[in-house]
Amino acid sequence: MSDGDDERRRDLPDGGTDDVASAGDDVRADDTELDDTELDDVREGDRFTPADRVDAVAPSGIRAFFEVAESRDDVISLGVGEPDFTAPWPARSAAIASLERGRTSYTANRGTPELRRAIARHVERYDLSYDPEEEILVTTGASEAVDLAFRALVDPGDVVALPTPTYVSYAPGVTFAGGEPLPVPTYHEDDWSLTPEALRAAGADEADVLVLCYPNNPTGATMSREELSGVAEFCREHDLLVVSDEIYAALTYGDEHTSVATLPGMRERTVVINGFSKAYAMTGLRLGYALAPPTASAAMTKVHQYSMLSAPTTAQHAAAAALQRCDDEVGEMRREYDRRRRYLTARLRELGLDVAEPGGAFYAFPRVADVAPDGDDEAFATDLLRETGVAAVPGSAFGDGGAGHLRLSYATGMDELKEATRRLESYLAEH
Ligand code: PMP
Repeated sequence: MSDGDDERRRDLPDGGTDDVASAGDDVRADDTELDDTELDDVREGDRFTPADRVDAVAPSGIRAFFEVAESRDDVISLGVGEPDFTAPWPARSAAIASLERGRTSYTANRGTPELRRAIARHVERYDLSYDPEEEILVTTGASEAVDLAFRALVDPGDVVALPTPTYVSYAPGVTFAGGEPLPVPTYHEDDWSLTPEALRAAGADEADVLVLCYPNNPTGATMSREELSGVAEFCREHDLLVVSDEIYAALTYGDEHTSVATLPGMRERTVVINGFSKAYAMTGLRLGYALAPPTASAAMTKVHQYSMLSAPTTAQHAAAAALQRCDDEVGEMRREYDRRRRYLTARLRELGLDVAEPGGAFYAFPRVADVAPDGDDEAFATDLLRETGVAAVPGSAFGDGGAGHLRLSYATGMDELKEATRRLESYLAEH
């Protein structure tokens, strides 16, 4: 995997550089590329045996796919799960200024008071109200917040319901914490929305925790207040805690984002997770946060305090400025994603592929089962890449529920999207 992401970065129109995305992009798919041979090599050379919890996590099956992608230089990657924009200038300049002023120490465990106050003010736009002293924790990316929620709240043997297709980190995180992931299939026919029926059918009434991710990675699905209310009722009835990963909240294209914590009786049982990687194009600054009632927040802060001390200081300065001064830039990026979203879904439909309307995030998740060899999405993705140089992530990388689908990221420039869909069109015409 190359680290040469700089070439695909795009500044907003009034920003500094104007890099054109290269065709030879990295096609990382959220770090799903760990494979067995790597672990085996390690085992032969030393005296360690990975802990059972770590061994229990299945390696990703898409390594071969990425090797093909790396071996050619005409690849258009719709595989990446990160913005092709650079972080807005006010956020970057605040980071630079903080370094110039010598702000290079740890911060408070929970994060700087300024950032926590800015977060409290920011989330009011989603009708969320959290106390910066006791209910807000700044983390090293939303990734740390997800991990902390599982480590702080899941006891060994606890069952954690995961709607699938699912973002790749949840099941491993649950397993590392000693919990048991319970897949809850969601369906293309329901626009990938989670229903109480799906929860019941999967046996989630026996679960201890439910993970929600709307807008969703990988499907782009969003859930309205009405849709969420059935899920919320299920959680109250069966006493489930909720970990709600809302990292794509600001990238919602239709109705305003609804946080499940705003539904009656839900705030007290929900950890809301958000971050700066997506909406503010700050993936490399590694900053996120968790909002939770005092008991959960204190438990998460305890784990964070011993494992991390505090989130990166420079990034916290950038993040405070992002929240206070970057609404316009976020709006611009959102409008651009929306333009690409509409283009991509229309083109996919034109090509005869069935795709649910993605209401948020930056992914489309079309069905390819009818056009794939033996209906197999991995074979389709590998063949498409080999023949056309278009890289996309096979849906089965996101759990069984994603089989027969393909995740296409539109965090990729319009020109590449046009060329990628043109290549897809000729591929489909030939097969
Ligand atoms: N949650 C979801 C749903 C994501 O897609 C990602 C990034 N791929 C993360 C969390 C992790 O984000 P961060 O960079 O803030 O750790």
